[in-house]
Amino acid sequence: MKENFSWPPHFVSRIQARKGFDAQAFFKALQEDAPISIRFNPLKTNAEEIQTLFENNLENVPWTETGFYLPNRPNFTLLPALHGGHFYVQEASSMLLEQAIIQTKLNQPKLTILDACAAPGGKSTHLLSLLSRDTLFVSNEVIKSRASVLHENLTKWGHSNVVITNSDPSIFGKTEGWLDAIIVDAPCSGEGLFRKDAHASEEWSVNNAQLCAQRQTRILEDLWPALKENGLLIYSTCTYNPDENENNLTRFIKNNNAESIELNLQNVWGIEIVKTESIIGYYCFPHLVKGEGFFLSVLRKKSAMSHAKLKSKKSVFTSLEKKHTYVKEWINDSSTLFQYKDQILALPIEHIPTIDFLTQHAYLISCGLMMGEIKQNKVIPSHALALSIALKENEFPFIDLEKEEALLFLRKDQFNHDAINQAENGFNLMRYHNVHLGFINKISNRYNNLYPPEWRIRMELK
Ligand code: SAM
Repeated sequence: MKENFSWPPHFVSRIQARKGFDAQAFFKALQEDAPISIRFNPLKTNAEEIQTLFENNLENVPWTETGFYLPNRPNFTLLPALHGGHFYVQEASSMLLEQAIIQTKLNQPKLTILDACAAPGGKSTHLLSLLSRDTLFVSNEVIKSRASVLHENLTKWGHSNVVITNSDPSIFGKTEGWLDAIIVDAPCSGEGLFRKDAHASEEWSVNNAQLCAQRQTRILEDLWPALKENGLLIYSTCTYNPDENENNLTRFIKNNNAESIELNLQNVWGIEIVKTESIIGYYCFPHLVKGEGFFLSVLRKKSAMSHAKLKSKKSVFTSLEKKHTYVKEWINDSSTLFQYKDQILALPIEHIPTIDFLTQHAYLISCGLMMGEIKQNKVIPSHALALSIALKENEFPFIDLEKEEALLFLRKDQFNHDAINQAENGFNLMRYHNVHLGFINKISNRYNNLYPPEWRIRMELK
């Protein structure tokens, strides 16, 4: 239980004025510790392994197949499974997104879906686990430093049907009717994080909340043209402020030809339904739901002016030189290999026009699966390949490490290990149980650790 907490007075009076709302229970819950939860990567691990990793009898997050509450907060950095993309630390209410995806059938094959405000990657990793693997998923973050974190988290998650961009959302709406769905997890005043993050309440002001609402409207207006007819927009925030949620969407729907989509959520989950004349939205409040504050609503575009068939002038991707085609053997995936400068990329061929279009209009951070880099006529396998769900078992020799050595490897510390000493020259995949950690390049009696330096663990190991 936290003590001496004071909330901004305007926030308190707005919450107290909510009709039929138990404000006392709400503020009591805000003083309690936030629940800890994780979501696992079903293409790398399973519920049993996660139960064993933390402790048995973990409680499920009811609205998702892959979420668990943890009884306490472990030191996540010291768990190799985190660095191998086996799980992601995410607060539970946000996982409600799964219901919106499944119930609106966005998990059907071959769609094009944009997550417009994606860093650090909670929703994007979740979406990748839910969407069909032949859907093209564009994960965008406007702030450069945050886009790097997004890149790291998505690389670890290991999917190849994703393009990561670092652009203002407005660039996506400059072309009409090319997206089947857009996820807008909008920047907001963050009231839902007040108990998790004390700074969130210090930074709160009426003025800032108004600015957030204006920015959210702008993001929606900018993106809306990109949706196809019947395309879906999933809007969410982590704030309780109606002006950033249902009121904002009500205004938006008046000017745009859209309808609000109802979801079927179980009463026992405690999620509150809010309705305006045109919008139905869903709130998670911390005294009713085991999670942080969250709002979600789904809109459908009723009609679109045009349905774009994306064409590009000339692709930046060239065919793979014959001498490198052997690298296709490294993966178990229907992608086609291309070269871009000295990189070899595995890309979904049916989405090439869209990817080409993105290369011309957005700033791309990564695209499909970066298999490796060509250096002096040899292909150096990438870290993304080591962590990819497409990597074929046994294509590279494994070296199995104990936990302490796995952490030393993740720190990029040099250490002596019999299996490394005895390993063949060339690329070896470092592994801790079934967690892929990264490659080393063994060169006679030494080795290079190919773990990306910027992602290494910096914490001292005791
Ligand atoms: N979806 C993320 C997740 O689940 O991990 C969290 C997204 S966070 C709520 C909102 C994101 O919007 C932040 O990463 C922020 O940098 C980004 N953002 C800030 N200003 C923006 C703008 N004007 N347009 C689009 N995104 C913006």
